[in-house]
Amino acid sequence: MGGTFDPPHLGHLIAAQSAWEQMELDEVWFLPTYHPPHKNHQVVATANQRLQMVKCCTVDHPAFRVCDVELKTRETSYTIKTMEQLQAQYPAYEFYFIIGADMIMYLPQWFEIEKLINMVTFVGVKRSSTVIDWDALPPEIAKKVTMVSMPSIDISSTAIRERLKRGQSIQYYVHAGVNEYVKGNHIYES
Ligand code: NAP
Repeated sequence: MGGTFDPPHLGHLIAAQSAWEQMELDEVWFLPTYHPPHKNHQVVATANQRLQMVKCCTVDHPAFRVCDVELKTRETSYTIKTMEQLQAQYPAYEFYFIIGADMIMYLPQWFEIEKLINMVTFVGVKRSSTVIDWDALPPEIAKKVTMVSMPSIDISSTAIRERLKRGQSIQYYVHAGVNEYVKGNHIYES
């Protein structure tokens, strides 16, 4: 499950848990991006802070792992490059890529998507409010997307950063370990 995780919140964790349960995956690897290809706004927390926050919120789950390959590469994180690297490193593994269902419609614009769909099955995590126009998606992409469901959790990293800027609490929006880390390191305060 790739993400900027700036910061990771309960929506990310429940999405991962939903995919893990419904797809019967062995493990879910959280893959913080160094620089996401589709976001031109500045990432606020440093790569190391985002990595530490992802570690804080996954450490107590039996199947959640953290994968720091994109942070080590330190360049724009194209998923195809990451998957080529992971498949070379773990040839016996079968990989899925978990994404929020809102992102499915943008898959045709992903870098080298025609190669990527032969390497992974996408797991689209559908909130109850999500509507997907399957007819607008190329059929070769649509058939490589499996849907799972989760309750709508209306939390976003942007909203959390704004709460912190206003001096509001993010308790219950994020894992307690992330809350402690954010407070201790004064991230997102200005
Ligand atoms: P993000 O904002 O950090 O979120 C990570 C994932 O969690 C997203 O799929 C997001 O879906 C989902 N999510 C966030 N809040 C949620 C909530 N409340 N409930 C359920 N799901 C929630 O991730 P991102 O920065 O968009 O990046 C996603 C991944 O796609 C990254 O690995 C990135 O590198 C990859 N990507 C690759 C390319 C490419 O290769 N060219 C292009 C674009 C993205 P939503 O977006 O639906 O909120």
